[in-house]
Amino acid sequence: MAMAQTQNDKTYKIKINWYACVGCGDCMTACPVNLDMKRTKGYLDESDAVILVKNSNVHVINQNLCTGCGTCIPACPVKAIDIIMKEAD
Ligand code: SF4
Ligand code: SF4
Repeated sequence: MAMAQTQNDKTYKIKINWYACVGCGDCMTACPVNLDMKRTKGYLDESDAVILVKNSNVHVINQNLCTGCGTCIPACPVKAIDIIMKEAD
């Protein structure tokens, strides 16, 4: 029987190439989890955004809220986002 996946044992992780990022914010806008948070609360901040642009640079703020949907990847004009699989323990 498959074990339920907890928030901390996800097998994937969002990875951002900081050097390539131009801080456009397209990933932040495209992310459906961010969109839900924004609809619910009216704004996004560090407490519940998955991906947030601050000071013209993108940050993955709440990795645990990321569903791994991949929507942000094609949204990035400079291909700075990737999803990497974590090594199994
Ligand atoms: S993979 Fe999906 S949930 Fe995760 S940051 Fe990208 S758009 Fe948001
Ligand atoms: S879409 Fe790409 S370039 Fe734009 S803020 Fe996100 S990671 Fe940076």
